[in-house]
Amino acid sequence: MDSPSGPKDDTTSAHIHVEKKPPRSDARARDLLAATFGLVADLPATVATGCGLRVPYAMTSPRPESVTCLACREHAHAQHLRLAEEIERLGAMPGAVVTADRAGQVAEHHRDLARRFAGDDGSP
Ligand SMILES: [Zn+2]
Repeated sequence: MDSPSGPKDDTTSAHIHVEKKPPRSDARARDLLAATFGLVADLPATVATGCGLRVPYAMTSPRPESVTCLACREHAHAQHLRLAEEIERLGAMPGAVVTADRAGQVAEHHRDLARRFAGDDGSP
């Protein structure tokens, strides 16, 4: 069987997706470097999304308000909640590099993002 499987190319999708990689990925830094040093050719033209597609990088956004793909919103919601828990665990470790206070702030930031990805911000 040689039917294509795996991520589909969806370059015509009108939806904005999230990148599948964790939010702390260095995609934005890479973008900046590319803009600064003209390394655009080294950038992937497409990225894997939370819903299992491959779309042009420009069709993704880390901003909850910009993401219109429902599956990606759910993916990002779960991912930010998981990150928040991970960060709080790090902050609670003896000898942690982050204080519990700081970890709490960062965790709260991710919980806020998770809420916004879930559309639970009090407005439709
Ligand atoms: Zn998506």
